[in-house]
Amino acid sequence: MALLFTVQRTLVLAAHPDDDVIAAGGLIQRVVAARGDIHVVFVTDGENNPWPQRFIERKFFIEAGDRTRWGAMRRREAICSLARLGIGERCATFLGFPDQGIAKLARRGDMRLRDALRAIVEEFKPTLLLTPSSFDRHPDHRAISYFAHRAAPEATIATYVVHGSAPADRVAFRVELSDDEQRRKREAIECHVSQLALSRERFLSYAGQTEAFFKPEFDRVCVESYARERMTAWLHAAHVFFGIAPQVDSGVAPAPEVQEAARHMLEHRL
Ligand SMILES: [Zn+2]
Repeated sequence: MALLFTVQRTLVLAAHPDDDVIAAGGLIQRVVAARGDIHVVFVTDGENNPWPQRFIERKFFIEAGDRTRWGAMRRREAICSLARLGIGERCATFLGFPDQGIAKLARRGDMRLRDALRAIVEEFKPTLLLTPSSFDRHPDHRAISYFAHRAAPEATIATYVVHGSAPADRVAFRVELSDDEQRRKREAIECHVSQLALSRERFLSYAGQTEAFFKPEFDRVCVESYARERMTAWLHAAHVFFGIAPQVDSGVAPAPEVQEAARHMLEHRL
């Protein structure tokens, strides 16, 4: 069944500064061009990002103050990136939850993130809520998916995968980017200088032709064990360090009526 929505009020949840542009840099441009409202919520500052920081700062031992400084820089990069996509700082909220610590919050039954997201949803009233997917390899992304689904059970939710892929039969809609949209998305990704230092090729590869979004995942989201979190975090790190290319597109088109309905809504129903 087609996912019925408009992008008139689009709320994007990003686990870390850069997930927004990687996953939805084209869709965000489309909403801006159609004069829709958009808001981006950064759940963490991406401050727990030791290898790029070691590389850039030439410092092996990263301490709390270093992480705070790094997180502040990543916020600035996110603002720069959003500006490239045509939206201002007032359209961004930084929640400051701990990077690499979201699954742990879920295991503890700490619902502060759910409550924060619920408050934002109640105020912004999104017609479309984009959240990371529980199919993503990164534990923070999956845990945020859990909290987002718990926070907004009535919202129209679509999910996105940054690390890994989701099954083709879960595609809800795709956005095909024009050359101009791809160029601007690439420029926005280039604002994330800290992330490009070690993974330039991998990062810029995200500025592809297609963005895929998936159906809601109420059937999948859950609280994960520590063992699963660590295992998948390790797998994710292995993919990043050994340069395995990201799979941002499942390569299989959704049913034509799904695609057509989404295209129609993106173009005409604002
Ligand atoms: Zn992320």
